Amino acid sequence: MALALARQAVAGPSVLRAAFTLPAVALPSLRLPSLNDILEWGITLAVPKSKISHSRKSMRSAHKGIKNKTNLNHCPACGSVKLSHNLCANCFSQISRRWKKEARAPVGEPRE
Ligand SMILES: [Zn+2]
Repeated sequence: MALALARQAVAGPSVLRAAFTLPAVALPSLRLPSLNDILEWGITLAVPKSKISHSRKSMRSAHKGIKNKTNLNHCPACGSVKLSHNLCANCFSQISRRWKKEARAPVGEPRE
């Protein structure tokens, strides 16, 4: 197939155009059915039988509470507690404060 296409590419653009024209085949429709169509078919959609009360909902999600963090360690720079594999919030706020201070300083003024 690739060899035949390469030969056609060498032959010229008119041959190429003939090679890439699609045959006249009726493609299946890709249109999604509308809600009206679905209702006309008589299909019953899945619907909850009754309302779930707040109490039952909260009972279902009772075991999804907040878990204890076990991935904590100390920042090597400042020593405060931080999440492992994350930036230290204390160091980050210090650095961002310093950058903002430097950005606000006038151009001619010497920087620290
Ligand atoms: Zn730190």
